[in-house]
Amino acid sequence: MNCPHCQSSNIVACGSQSNGSKKHKCKECLKTFTEGGKAKGRPKQYSTDYDRVKAWRKRRKQN
Ligand SMILES: [Zn+2]
Repeated sequence: MNCPHCQSSNIVACGSQSNGSKKHKCKECLKTFTEGGKAKGRPKQYSTDYDRVKAWRKRRKQN
């Protein structure tokens, strides 16, 4: 298994989540992720951030 963020195989086990999926930490980029964590659609947080960036870019263009 590799880190989904930087594709490094330098990862360590880092406990588990309440839903039973194992948590890992990447020693390269120090980010945590869950094993076999299948993303259920796009996280709400992501879409909100994306919309905000989009609006910001639009505003920047106009000025
Ligand atoms: Zn990584």
